[in-house]
Amino acid sequence: MTTVAPFLRHAPQTAPLPLVLDSPHSGEHYPDDFGHAPPRDVVRQAEDTHVARLYGVAPKLGATLIEAMFPRAYIDANRSLDDIDPAMLADAWPTPLSVSRKTEQGIGLLWRKARDGTPMYDRKLTAAEVQLRIDRWYRPYHAALAAELDALHRAFGAVWHIDCHSMPAIGDAYSDDAGRPRKDFVLGDRDGTTCAPEFTALVAETLTALGYSVAVNDPYKGVEIVRRYGRPQERRHSLQIELNRRLYMNETTLEPTVDYKKLEADLERLLAAVSGYVQRKV
Ligand SMILES: [Zn+2]
Repeated sequence: MTTVAPFLRHAPQTAPLPLVLDSPHSGEHYPDDFGHAPPRDVVRQAEDTHVARLYGVAPKLGATLIEAMFPRAYIDANRSLDDIDPAMLADAWPTPLSVSRKTEQGIGLLWRKARDGTPMYDRKLTAAEVQLRIDRWYRPYHAALAAELDALHRAFGAVWHIDCHSMPAIGDAYSDDAGRPRKDFVLGDRDGTTCAPEFTALVAETLTALGYSVAVNDPYKGVEIVRRYGRPQERRHSLQIELNRRLYMNETTLEPTVDYKKLEADLERLLAAVSGYVQRKV
């Protein structure tokens, strides 16, 4: 049996900055006990494939990058632990559940359906196997991210965090904008509550200057990760960034396109601007 760590921590390769990136949805290690019903290539449509690699330059600029190894279709690190559809379970959940809009859409902590609409499981999940996913994968990922943010906040008195994602080019049945084409980037700060507005503005202005279209909090505001770690009044700033997948990959095959390198270079420019900003603020 191989042992796969729940996350990889890419340490700064130069003087560390209080800047952390995390990629919770790009994991490609499918645990043996997943037991999904659709073929793997259909299940993989849920991934934010390549996102951790696209930001791979971050440690060279002094940032820390935390990368999830597990797929979000197995357990979603960007959901709260009580966001479970009880109808997916074979037995009772031991603590109260709070079903969100995401679970109603089938994409809560556990995904009810694959992105093509077919059921993710041909069985009910036992509470014990869900608990194992939480303890083996979800909790260590959050513990690593929280420890990183806390240590840097202690050392610098402030910390900036970018929660890195990608999104389908066009809104699908799992979103509130079905059929609508997306902008190149969508920034989410939960309506200005998870980071200072000037941080969101810096990222938006940098991307706009690079020629990209940018939306803020529409259709994605940010979910559990920025909600949990963003406390701007304590100088803890968390911003979610969604990349449009058409900028870098074929959404069916998940293969990078010829445009991948350009996006990668532009993300390096973005991170250079962000690291300059962070250095001015500490
Ligand atoms: Zn994502």
